[in-house]
Amino acid sequence: MDSIKDLEELYELDLYPKRDVSLVRGDKCKLYSDSGEEYIDCVAGHGVCNLGHSNLRIMEAINNLDLISCPETLPNPVRAELLRRLVSVTPIGLDKVFLCNSGTEAVEAAIKFARFTTGKTKIVGAVRGFHGRTFGSLSATWRKEIKEDFEPLLDGFFHVPFNNFEKLKEIVDDETAAVILELIQGEGGVRLADKDYVAKVRDLCDSLGVLLIIDEVQTGFGRTGKMFACEHYDLRPDIICLAKGIANGVPMGAVACNNKIKVKKLMHSSTFGGNILACSVSLATISELERVIPLMEGDYFLEKLRSLESDKIREVRGIGLMLAAELKVNCTPYLKALMDENVLALVAGKNVIRFLPPLIISKEEIDVVVSKLSKILN
Ligand code: PLP
Repeated sequence: MDSIKDLEELYELDLYPKRDVSLVRGDKCKLYSDSGEEYIDCVAGHGVCNLGHSNLRIMEAINNLDLISCPETLPNPVRAELLRRLVSVTPIGLDKVFLCNSGTEAVEAAIKFARFTTGKTKIVGAVRGFHGRTFGSLSATWRKEIKEDFEPLLDGFFHVPFNNFEKLKEIVDDETAAVILELIQGEGGVRLADKDYVAKVRDLCDSLGVLLIIDEVQTGFGRTGKMFACEHYDLRPDIICLAKGIANGVPMGAVACNNKIKVKKLMHSSTFGGNILACSVSLATISELERVIPLMEGDYFLEKLRSLESDKIREVRGIGLMLAAELKVNCTPYLKALMDENVLALVAGKNVIRFLPPLIISKEEIDVVVSKLSKILN
């Protein structure tokens, strides 16, 4: 009989390197395979499932739905309430929202809104920035290897070194529509923006009439220990892009904008955007997150990782529960070894092991993860 992995490999386009474990069930921070093995989840569906698996409020939101499909042209009370909630939790001044279905769609929409609003085309991003894999978001993304097979991408996109204000200043001008940044680069290796840099970027954008787009697809919804990474920087962006943790695993994205952003009717839309399944789960997610975020054990996890003694570790870094151990060697075999020790983690570039557990991970679970990491590194 074909294994689950064999079947997926037989019928699915060969885009993903598949691991040798088939998951069938999740409970809080644990995942279970078809053979009954238990794993500690430090992947959370790539930073999506922030409340963990089988959260009761999320399950209730799904089970108690009265309606799933309701296009944006027909108002609905659940969607109306979610829009109100999103505006109340996102950074001050962001008071209009567009709903979509994924991170890349949020970035695509943000690029369109920025170009339409300013009438300009130039967009400046950062080295190691990642914003998605459709044409607009891929153009904003830095990594050459994932872009070169699809060229030409969109014109007008530029990348400058992250955290280097002088380089940014050289390229941003009054012909620029927007600067797009992650405050903590996720796929780029869990790298934090400096506070001083972010403040200077905001001032520069203001002085030139350039919009500042912050991509909070990975950092949003509690991942960094606050609802949004912007809060660590006291930052008021013009646009933020949201997805991943917004509905704890139900596909959803959003763009929140301030009153500088102009649109016109039907210049952009999405069939599934604002569907009631996603809105209802997102509402439950936001109220659960307000309870969970103050209890997060991110500092404990970071401290434990920092106390690890191994000559293979170059650096440990991160914030909240967006953490990384950069190795001096390729991390792929270590990720596999961790999985053999019943811990699922992620990569972020060749040398970086990334931990994005559900925000409810306990100290005991963190102890197990770090001791397994220590075991496989030594
Ligand atoms: N932006 C950031 C910062 C991301 O980390 C990602 C995905 O990892 C995306 C955009 C793209 O999101 P999606 O995979 O939902 O299209």
